[in-house]
Amino acid sequence: MSVSKLASAITESPTLRLNEEAAKLREKGEAVVHLGAGEPKNKAPISAILSAAARLNTGDIKYTPTDGISSLKKAVVRYTEENYDKIVSTDNIIISQGAKQALFNLLYTLVNPQDEVIVLAPYWVSYPEMIKMVYGIPVIVTPENGRFLPSINDIEEAISSYTRAIIVNSPNNPSGAIYPPELIQQIVELCEKKGVYVIMDDIYHKLVFDGKTCASAYKFTKNDIETTKVIVINGISKLYGMTGFRIGWVVAPKQIVEVLTNVQGQTSSCTSVLLQAAAEGALTGLQSAVDALRLTLENNRNVMMQQLRAFNGVKIIPPDGTYYCLPDFRAYNKNSVELSNFLLKKALVVTVPGKEFGMEGHLRLSYATTVKDVTQGVERIKWALDPTSPNEIYIGERKLVRDWL
Ligand code: PMP
Repeated sequence: MSVSKLASAITESPTLRLNEEAAKLREKGEAVVHLGAGEPKNKAPISAILSAAARLNTGDIKYTPTDGISSLKKAVVRYTEENYDKIVSTDNIIISQGAKQALFNLLYTLVNPQDEVIVLAPYWVSYPEMIKMVYGIPVIVTPENGRFLPSINDIEEAISSYTRAIIVNSPNNPSGAIYPPELIQQIVELCEKKGVYVIMDDIYHKLVFDGKTCASAYKFTKNDIETTKVIVINGISKLYGMTGFRIGWVVAPKQIVEVLTNVQGQTSSCTSVLLQAAAEGALTGLQSAVDALRLTLENNRNVMMQQLRAFNGVKIIPPDGTYYCLPDFRAYNKNSVELSNFLLKKALVVTVPGKEFGMEGHLRLSYATTVKDVTQGVERIKWALDPTSPNEIYIGERKLVRDWL
């Protein structure tokens, strides 16, 4: 087999691999608890389903303009005005196949070979790989031990003459941390001074708890939409739990959107009109679906925090939003890949190793599941790690044995 050096250097998505391993165990009849999920259990909002169904019924399913159907783009314009207090036009928007494709196309559009892109740890697993896929260099900025927020001084030090962009994801996958408004302001001001793009990955921005909110980076730009360095990525996957519909978007200066459109036109033509119709339905329908999802997640987060607090040695910073938290398990094992494999094999619980997110010694636990799975999952992890646990536990008929004692 002969493949390109670049392609062979790209690593497998660890979260997708874990999903497959868990599915195989389930096929064998094992009662696996999945705390690795990046999607909630809810059904798509009815307004999204009706809108896609109406489109399908016309039988007229053809290519759309590369940058998306104008009614969906108008819905994104309204979304941006309502949620970011920012007036943009449809020329500032392109619809892509999920935030993932939106981000990849954007990096392809902005980054020259050997340009640097700053990534803030802990980070979503795909950022460094995508940067490498456009021949760029990821420069990782890591916070102080025991914290999830980077310091503005460390970010400033990481900026070089090769820096093209910084990616900011708040609330953050995997930590659930919201970046405080002062930090967003400092990042925007610093980057605009240095001519560096600020890519805001806002995919979880309304899934926040305890009445908190996420600051819009637009609030801190001194420039208008055509000259700002702030670029926003968002989508319907996480907000509406519509992961399978694969719709995301970029809000950027018009000239960048024009290049993004050329890039997308030559690679995927456009996103499916059916799925764009579904996204339009979600954005223009009743927004109670987002509130319901947020409340479910907040409740699950509370249950998980309560259980983790009763876990000796595990350090936890409670998440402010998203589907995840990132407890520190170094008291039990400093190697998160080893720990995650151990928990899957011995306790049948899927977790994601912190190493994949640039935070070794931690595990990402998802509470985007049922309360029962949250409770059982953490109980099993505790059973597997705590030396005072009973030697055996039963899950239905299945006996789990602590044979590593
Ligand atoms: N950004 C972050 C931080 C994510 O967690 C994800 C999905 N896991 C994405 C982007 C991609 O989302 P989409 O499904 O819209 O491609």
